[in-house]
Amino acid sequence: VSALDEMGGERDAFIAPDFDTLVDSPTVVGDPAIHDFSVVAVPHQHVIIGEAGVWDGARSARDMERIVRAARDFWGVLPYDRYTVFNLLTEARGGLEHATSTVLMTSRWSTRTDTAYRDWLGLLAHELFHAWNVKRLRPLELGPFDYERENHTRTLWIAEGLTEYYGDLLVRRAGLATPDEYLTALSTHIRELQSRPGRLVVPLESAAFDAWIKQYRPDENSRNVSVDYYGKGAVIGALLDARIRLATRGARSLDDVMRVAYARHGGDRGYTSAEFRTIAGTVAGIELGAFFHHALETTGELDYEPLLACYGLRFRAEPDGAPAAWLGVTTRDDGGRLIIAGIARDTPAYGSGLSVEDEIIAIDDFRVRAGGLGPRLEQYRPGDRIELLIARRDALRRYAATLGAVPRATWTLEPDPGATAEQIARRREWIGE
Ligand SMILES: [Zn+2]
Repeated sequence: VSALDEMGGERDAFIAPDFDTLVDSPTVVGDPAIHDFSVVAVPHQHVIIGEAGVWDGARSARDMERIVRAARDFWGVLPYDRYTVFNLLTEARGGLEHATSTVLMTSRWSTRTDTAYRDWLGLLAHELFHAWNVKRLRPLELGPFDYERENHTRTLWIAEGLTEYYGDLLVRRAGLATPDEYLTALSTHIRELQSRPGRLVVPLESAAFDAWIKQYRPDENSRNVSVDYYGKGAVIGALLDARIRLATRGARSLDDVMRVAYARHGGDRGYTSAEFRTIAGTVAGIELGAFFHHALETTGELDYEPLLACYGLRFRAEPDGAPAAWLGVTTRDDGGRLIIAGIARDTPAYGSGLSVEDEIIAIDDFRVRAGGLGPRLEQYRPGDRIELLIARRDALRRYAATLGAVPRATWTLEPDPGATAEQIARRREWIGE
């Protein structure tokens, strides 16, 4: 099976019109399972490599059709003559967008559990949304590609962040997730952002510009010094959408911004950051310059109030009871040894002298092994001072740390029981009921 356009010649011979099309056309040779369907007479193929009687291809093809229909309803048009989803069951997770296809990688077990399946549907919707947003409506800098060097752009919050925002929304709008499940997905993005110290270090547009040297070369300190333009971009999408709906009392939304941008810039040239911001302000009918500057060019905390106010939402109350003691390290099990895998900025462990790759041997001279750190810390309270015996490259060292309290904020969105009729109406326009 090939995504290349067959341009005559022998059977199984394919010709690409140019180099860009060739490298944008993944090719699979083999005997995959193929599910065909059409949406408004445009043929779609769902190609599954490694189905092996485990993956439920009939179900995923049916749901893919629903997501394509939701995307077509969103944009009003399908931008291709045919479209192929290559679903590789490789026990890895990832996806890459192309003009007339996408390649997804997932686990063959992903149709077996609701959470894993919704995650796959979100990935599929994300990559499909790229057929419009990125492959045809793209940042100025991302085309024509210079294959010899990096192609820097500051607008990945639009290209990837808004695609992430709409990936989840399309799954909801296709009826494949409930409103609650949608709010859970958005809450996960917010929680991930708010627990990432790097959000206070790097502005979003700078993180996008550095994608070539940082985003795809993560190390143990990435969470401390960089921000994820997928997740923060999705959150900014939700905030921007809410601001536009508030300003227009539900008459307009971010959906309109995307469609106007597609109509105006969905061609060969691409858009600049300023052009996209201008469209948003025009659609909203309000000045959004200060919002964009704060959200994209500074490391200031985001203001969630418009999101809560627009839809009548609140963050779930923090849990009752005394907070647990907190060291602030993530660890891994290395054959039973307890190894520090990460230390977040502004935690008790940060600045204590502990370092990533240290093996924690004992706390207050009692042995701790892999899996034992959590239960051991339950023996302490916030404010207690502990002494850690660690091994660093086989040298034993002792470090002291004063335990803090586990952060309590839940960042879980839920409907506010006191929401007004107007807020409930806005929420229904956004994610249905
Ligand atoms: Zn993407």
